[in-house]
Amino acid sequence: MTNDTQERDLTDGFNLVIDALKLNDIDTIFGLPGIPITDFTRKAQAEGIRVISFRHEQHAGNAAAAAGFLTGKPGICLTVSAPGFLNGLTALANATTNCFPMILISGSSEREIVDLQQGDYEEMDQLAIAKPLCKAAFRVLHAADIGVGIARAIRSALSGRPGGVYLDLPAKLFSQTMDAEAGKHSLIHVVDPAPRQLPAPDSVQRALDLLKGAKRPLILLGKGAAYARADEDIRALVEKSGIPYLPMSMAKGLLPDTHEQSAAPARSYVLAEADVVMLIGARLNWLLSHGKGKTWGAPNGKQFIQIDIAPTEIDSNVAIAAPVIGDIGSCVAALLGGMGDNWAKPPVEWTGAIAERREKNLAKMSATLALDPSPMNFHSALNVVRDIVKNNQDAIVVNEGANTLDFARSIVDMYKPRKRLDVGTWGIMGIGMGFSVGAAVVTGQQVIAIEGDSAFGFSGMEVETICRYNLPVCIVVFNNNGIYKGTDVNKLGGDVAPTVFVKNARYDMMMQAFGGVGVHATTPAELRAAMEEAIKSGQPTLINAVIDETAGTESGRITSLNPQSGAKKK
Ligand code: ADP
Ligand code: MG
Repeated sequence: MTNDTQERDLTDGFNLVIDALKLNDIDTIFGLPGIPITDFTRKAQAEGIRVISFRHEQHAGNAAAAAGFLTGKPGICLTVSAPGFLNGLTALANATTNCFPMILISGSSEREIVDLQQGDYEEMDQLAIAKPLCKAAFRVLHAADIGVGIARAIRSALSGRPGGVYLDLPAKLFSQTMDAEAGKHSLIHVVDPAPRQLPAPDSVQRALDLLKGAKRPLILLGKGAAYARADEDIRALVEKSGIPYLPMSMAKGLLPDTHEQSAAPARSYVLAEADVVMLIGARLNWLLSHGKGKTWGAPNGKQFIQIDIAPTEIDSNVAIAAPVIGDIGSCVAALLGGMGDNWAKPPVEWTGAIAERREKNLAKMSATLALDPSPMNFHSALNVVRDIVKNNQDAIVVNEGANTLDFARSIVDMYKPRKRLDVGTWGIMGIGMGFSVGAAVVTGQQVIAIEGDSAFGFSGMEVETICRYNLPVCIVVFNNNGIYKGTDVNKLGGDVAPTVFVKNARYDMMMQAFGGVGVHATTPAELRAAMEEAIKSGQPTLINAVIDETAGTESGRITSLNPQSGAKKK
């Protein structure tokens, strides 16, 4: 055998990782090149995988997480060792918390040196650090195990409750060679990575019995329901049962927010008054006041039905009278089947009382939205966004901030499933540009990012990424000169108050620096024109929307989570 033939008969770690990903239909990697994965990114691109390169790993990780939620395939984030890995870890932990499937693949330094702590370049025991922050973590030491490693990562990310997975690939692995034919056979095509999990028939019957006896039933849809892609059946369940429903923020659009059974405009009333609540892919965490207390009208003997794929979620905060464990598609189909053709709709005293509050609150909201104060406030600016989204229902809305988040969530109606991405279960800041890039890349749709000025700052440098890939992302920065608002003063003089930014900053010029469109908007009319143009052109656009710096409240709607000083206020 000549050297040549010998080389042709060999494969290496680089090729095996790429082939294993491609074998499992993974066509996009979000990452940031550097030692030891630079060549890997080049080779992956040369092999037809789309490689989207970021300016900071956290945003690449967030893009991968958004891709996971939007496609139902694990989003892949690729980073360098120690610091790059750590930068990606926040996104991995956030994805896990949100139940989004994602795989963080990081290069790592030499095991022998790391384990003896002899001080390698970017030395860190990454596997140990990642483990408690994700659903599963694996390391591959031998080229022959790459197929198994990738298969385990994919299956762990997608099966059961989805989540983040860490895959550690030491530098040496990439150049390891093995027989090409044996390498090919070592790869695994993952069959049925998210198998259906049928609910037990008696659990379905128990839920139906409870629902049947309810006087004031309520359905609560969470982002698990959006992720499950059981859109038709969920809509059928809501409509056939006639039960009013509330969407959690990322479940908005599962049914159009304008649906007559939406109880969102009467949220506090229905949470307090309902007697039976059916949770579909929603957890009773802080976002739902843990299912207890005043919000839920306690004590009033409310009973819960919970549909979830994770059995250990049940009873995590309050007693669940009727758990239904399985994938949402199968559970909802079983409930629909069990309802029969003569299902009695809820009493009109209940639905009528909700309708009345709904109309009243909607009228109040329209009156507020119609005001045109100068300078703009959150409402007058969001009124524009609301119209634009109504006219572009396929657009994906990314939303973060404090007041910008709270107001946008309730004002901007969504019309289709999986069109809204936001701060999620943690209430994290910094997802904005990562989610925007991820969403634009995997869907090809227009993205509208509604960003508080502080929130935007966490990922603002990625506007370069947006321009580089020429993505149809329209960012609106709600600029009120600071965190919560821009009016805090340091009474001692000297430094400005910790919540205050440079006054009258021109975020629009950041976009211009990279060849995108930047617009400075001081009125709703200017904002509207700029958003319409952005969507028409599909050009990367950043609109600096000047908002009254006195508008906004501390921590938006979660002021109560701020610890109070023990000393009495004067
Ligand atoms: P939200 O914040 O919108 O209320 P959560 O993230 O708290 O939603 O809850 C989502 C729930 O959905 C999690 O408990 C998760 O286990 C569950 N889940 C995710 N995907 C599925 C699925 N395919 N089938 C059933 N349950 C799912
Ligand atoms: Mg602000």
